Amino acid sequence: MATCQTKHPEYTEETANDFNEIARTIFFPIYPVIAHQILKKADIDSGSCLDVGSGPGHLAIALATLSDLTVFTLDNSEPMCRIARANVAKYRLERRVRPVSGDVQKIPFGNESMDLVVSRGSFFFWENLTRGFAECRRVLRPGGMAYIGGGFGNARLRDEIAVQMRERDPAWEEKRRGWYANCSPHLVRSALAASGIFEYDLIQDDSGYWVCFSKSEEKEKTRDKHRRTGKTGTIYP
Ligand code: SAM
Repeated sequence: MATCQTKHPEYTEETANDFNEIARTIFFPIYPVIAHQILKKADIDSGSCLDVGSGPGHLAIALATLSDLTVFTLDNSEPMCRIARANVAKYRLERRVRPVSGDVQKIPFGNESMDLVVSRGSFFFWENLTRGFAECRRVLRPGGMAYIGGGFGNARLRDEIAVQMRERDPAWEEKRRGWYANCSPHLVRSALAASGIFEYDLIQDDSGYWVCFSKSEEKEKTRDKHRRTGKTGTIYP
């Protein structure tokens, strides 16, 4: 079972506001770039999307702005959910972006309810990566795609942000390295296998570090059959 070594401290009102301040200034240009990359890779433009560990909701807002998706944001921090609600209202996107409070370990949505599941900068802090991947997979519709990881969209944005973040917090890059160690390729591959996900792309390039997996309709039929006969590859608790 893959578990995180250093859990991120819970967000207080103050630290959640600090993160929102960074997200709406220094990080701001990355969200439309990443949203565009996700929409292109998933080849999707409408339906429902879940943004897991959405924080203040900027990726969800970019996804709703660039597509016809209805985006549900999910975060286990109440201060982050409150900020997400305020940001969504600022963009008058209340009908298209719906903030929800909850944990990836037990996503409060039904099986096969989402066409797209996205998550940026959050899986480094999930207590149980295996359970998190399994939950993301559970809520995906057959034919849907999950795009989970972290990054800044491209090399120019990543390098510009590193300069600004170093000025703000000289320890930022060291902290980042620690968070990434929670999700090394080895841990991610083990967690995916343990959650019954065997086909995926592990992207490590200038766009960031992302795991993409789809739920194929054909494979679902086989899984259902195996579930009925007790032969299933899923070993998460
Ligand atoms: N995705 C946002 C972004 O890119 O701007 C926020 C990233 S922030 C670094 C990580 C977020 O993941 C935080 O808002 C945190 O509360 C959330 N998070 C961490 N563990 C979580 C969990 N188990 N379930 C739901 N959200 C979680």
